[in-house]
Amino acid sequence: MLIKNVRILGGEAADIRIENGVIAEVGALSGEGLDGGGLIALPGLVDLHTHLREPGREDAETVQTGTQAAARGGYTAVHAMANTSPVADTAGVVEQVWRLGQEHGHCDVRPVGAVTSGLEGKHLAELGAMADSAAHVRVFSDDGKCVSDAVLMRRALEYVKAFDGVVAQHAQEPRLTEGAQLNEGVISGRLGLTGWPAVAEEAVIARDCLLAAHVGSRLHVCHVSTAGSVEIIRWAKSKGWDVTAEVTPHHLLLTDACAEASPVGPYNPIYKVNPPLRTAEDVAALRAALADGTIDAVATDHAPHPVEDKETEWGAAAMGMIGLETALSVVHEAMVETGLLDWAGVADRMSYRPARIGRLPGHGQPLEAGAPANITLYDPSARAEVDPSGFASRSRNTPYVGMTLPGRVVATFLRGRPTVLEGKLV
Ligand SMILES: [Zn+2]
Repeated sequence: MLIKNVRILGGEAADIRIENGVIAEVGALSGEGLDGGGLIALPGLVDLHTHLREPGREDAETVQTGTQAAARGGYTAVHAMANTSPVADTAGVVEQVWRLGQEHGHCDVRPVGAVTSGLEGKHLAELGAMADSAAHVRVFSDDGKCVSDAVLMRRALEYVKAFDGVVAQHAQEPRLTEGAQLNEGVISGRLGLTGWPAVAEEAVIARDCLLAAHVGSRLHVCHVSTAGSVEIIRWAKSKGWDVTAEVTPHHLLLTDACAEASPVGPYNPIYKVNPPLRTAEDVAALRAALADGTIDAVATDHAPHPVEDKETEWGAAAMGMIGLETALSVVHEAMVETGLLDWAGVADRMSYRPARIGRLPGHGQPLEAGAPANITLYDPSARAEVDPSGFASRSRNTPYVGMTLPGRVVATFLRGRPTVLEGKLV
């Protein structure tokens, strides 16, 4: 199979020949093939942070619909978070999710294992058994909840060293965020919503960086949302400690002002998310940190919820936003159109580094001969209003509805097999 006339990482036009799921040749190649029409070719995107909701909340998303959404967003692999029902805290459950991915996945699914049993923060889960299972778990997280007990966090960090795993922390000091609804600041004050202080995130990140250094282990920080968190991670990296971090697309584009000034008026819970949207100063710091590599990766935190859980009053609404089908366009808007990242940088932050952090073989490799043919073709000149009615996700809770965003994923290839063509699922 031949893909003609694509611009790899936005460079000069080239052709890509695929054989048996692997890139066989790149260059000016003879023969007939699929005309890429000058589209940008990127390595298949890799998400470190996806909530597929199966098992347990198939009304919100399934492995099938979530991976369809991923493929439409240009992803060829996702890490499925452990806060399912039952929780993915045993070899049995992670293997179930992994098998669902094998059978119904439109991209590869790598389960994340829980750090503590039942996400209860009391006892370590069966980390070694999950690592040894068919699911080959390497990322462990209680995401949705914070591993707030310092002793448990230390033990988890020590434990995962045995199999080169990483603990991905959802940094949220629970006592400082009791009842918290929106970033603590001017806007939460005006709206009368309980504040969610930046220090509740930053204190946990600082502690965990110190713990990771103390035991010589690997820490990954989920969805960094404040300028102060960036400073702490920059400091930890300057010490040579093995700390990585991710930022979500929505924290790169939206601020807490959305909660006051949405098109339908204040208190629109579509903007309710954990961690909360922060200030414009935080957004600027996150963009700069992603640009200079202090933040390693963009991760979607794709969090599907059924309509009844989101379209209610702010205080009662579920926290979270879907993101797989808009991530690349949001990064394009926030990082590329602003000149902060080029397409090589996008490939690094959305494919190479997430795959490396997750120790995920077969993904996150440059589009060169010998690499698996995981390829995303992207049209940077497209511009369209976000219309969730066409989404593959089972849920509709996107904060970008009605916004005009740049770019469009035209095709996605998983080991040479198209999962999306002409923007549609294959
Ligand atoms: Zn989280």
